[in-house]
Amino acid sequence: MANVKTHVEESDILIIGGGMAGTGATFEARHWGRDLKIVCVEKANIDRSGAVAQGLYAINCYMGMQWDENQPEDHVRYARNDLMGMVREDLGYDMARHVDSTVHMFDEWGLPMMKNEKTGRYLREGKWQIMIHGESYKPIVAEAAKKSANKIYNRIMVTHLLMDDEKENRIGGAVGFNMRTGDYHVFKAKAVIVAAGGASHIFKPRAVGEGMGRTWYAPWSNGSAYALPIAVGAKMTQMENRIVLCRFKDGYGPVGAYFLHLKTYTQNANGENYEKKWYDHTKEMVGEYIDHHPTPTCLRNHAFIQEVQAGGGPIHMVTKEAFQDPHLETVGWENFLGMTVGQAVVWASQNIDPKYTNPELTTSEPYVMGSHATCSGAWVSGPEDLSPPEYFWGYNRMLTVDGLFGAGDTVGGSAHKFSSGSFTEGRLAAKAAVKYIEDKKADGVKVNDKQYKDLKEVIYKPLENYTVGRNEITGGTVSPSYISPIQGLQRLQRIMDEYVGGIATNYMTNENMLNRGLELLKWLEEDLENVGAEDYHQLMRAWELKHRTITSQCVTEHTKFREETRWPGYYYRGDHLKLDDDNWHCLTVSRRDPKTKKFTMEKVPVYHIVDEKKEKKAS
Ligand SMILES: Cc1cc2nc3c(=O)[nH]c(=O)nc-3n(C[C@H](O)[C@H](O)[C@H](O)COP(=O)(O)OP(=O)(O)OC[C@H]3O[C@@H](n4cnc5c(N)ncnc54)[C@H](O)[C@@H]3O)c2cc1C
Repeated sequence: MANVKTHVEESDILIIGGGMAGTGATFEARHWGRDLKIVCVEKANIDRSGAVAQGLYAINCYMGMQWDENQPEDHVRYARNDLMGMVREDLGYDMARHVDSTVHMFDEWGLPMMKNEKTGRYLREGKWQIMIHGESYKPIVAEAAKKSANKIYNRIMVTHLLMDDEKENRIGGAVGFNMRTGDYHVFKAKAVIVAAGGASHIFKPRAVGEGMGRTWYAPWSNGSAYALPIAVGAKMTQMENRIVLCRFKDGYGPVGAYFLHLKTYTQNANGENYEKKWYDHTKEMVGEYIDHHPTPTCLRNHAFIQEVQAGGGPIHMVTKEAFQDPHLETVGWENFLGMTVGQAVVWASQNIDPKYTNPELTTSEPYVMGSHATCSGAWVSGPEDLSPPEYFWGYNRMLTVDGLFGAGDTVGGSAHKFSSGSFTEGRLAAKAAVKYIEDKKADGVKVNDKQYKDLKEVIYKPLENYTVGRNEITGGTVSPSYISPIQGLQRLQRIMDEYVGGIATNYMTNENMLNRGLELLKWLEEDLENVGAEDYHQLMRAWELKHRTITSQCVTEHTKFREETRWPGYYYRGDHLKLDDDNWHCLTVSRRDPKTKKFTMEKVPVYHIVDEKKEKKAS
């Protein structure tokens, strides 16, 4: 690749991904590191990138501590309950105690917040959510990052992390390419914060063919947040804890405002409250967890899935009553226009006016993420004042690789952060990264030219595969020697769907299926050496696919390791169909050896630091 231009940039702190966590990290890094050089690299354009690109209608994590609406302990209890006991309470508490200050900054920066006319407080949608006119949420936080960074690079996909050549297991930076110019970019850094979002499109989506790309989570979230650290041997946690969403059918429009603000409710095709019907069955599987309030999200999904399987579908959201109120009708529509315009378009195209027709709901394909209602992601150090020794190794939100930090979807164990909590976690990671540099932990980091020159060959190989392989095509577009990124993606999605608990099997899997899935994933990994890219955009697709594949391997290994069904409604282990607190009241942690590419798994105790005595201790 002699004709590709190489740019080398040296910085103190490198932030990978300029979404909610990345903008928070960039902003806070400047606050604590006045004289540091701070660089943020983004695959899209930070003004409209990440899961919040289209805007949001609610900030889903706000305590309201100033009015004593909630305290951090309450949020820990809530997240723990929703995740069936499995969270890192130190991380959750740490985020919760700082999140209000983040939201107050958003308010100061001009984000239009809805106010309760009677109380003057932020208008609550639910216990944790406050309502916003959030179409421009992302440009507003991006502005804060742009003013803070020495440089923001847009349109660069980071493909690999660089390691220090002097000291083992220490970070040295990252590399990637610009998908418009094709230039190769080397970022040397003393500390790196990965904030590259969750993973969609690893499981086959319900929408295929003409509707492909219509997923609930952002289609461009390709698991780089996981693949980058996994590839350098960082430990991951709870990767089996994928999420399945109950959403409006076909458009995946959000249901939160409908349930919480409009007080709509669900029923089966016969107009019955089907959730009650499945109580005894669910109790048999998970015991007393079904009696918790609020009912954990996965268990509500479980009732939905069982009801449909038993022939009670389709399931509807009862909107006809709420929509008789003109104010609620407006809120219902605006909710989509501010964040999921596609749902309004789907309803229009299907003659659905929710005032007269109760719309259908569906359960989505699974996604992997660390910031929403599940907590897959990197195994990180917690804060010094809260974390038990097993959860603390020097710097808040530092992964098990020195100088490598994470935030948002990247970080495992801390669910229910959402947009505000991800931004907050970015701030926490950046503060710790500055301290890491000030403590001189990064002194002497060296990245030899050879390391990044070798990676250059690897990164651009799909272009080479195509250039050579296309000459062998005798008819049509199918090459005997390369596969295209879309072919590889569909193969990956089918493996995950059919063997790892996707929609094809109604979220069911077992050890035999997982073993077969792992075998097929291995062969896919081998074949991806032969992925071909016809241009720089396809080169990005090729690397997105490789990142999705590593993420999928990790998800499958974790799913195999946890021999129980902890979250019915997210997935089922048919060979261990019950929740098993005696053996699995613990967190799962994995590490992939960068040389052998083999995963090792371990159980780590889950410590309940809020209401310690009342909760069951780790096994
Ligand atoms: C459909 C949907 C609805 C939601 N609704 C709400 C809501 O109502 N309220 C709420 O508070 N939260 C909501 N959330 C959650 C919120 O959007 C996420 O919690 C938050 O965006 C996660 O922040 P993040 O920085 O980890 O990821 P993101 O914000 O997704 O940012 C990741 C960034 O990394 C970039 N990137 C990815 N890979 C690379 C790479 N290899 N190199 C360089 N850059 C890369 C991406 O382009 C992106 O900009 C919703 C999310 C979704 C998807």
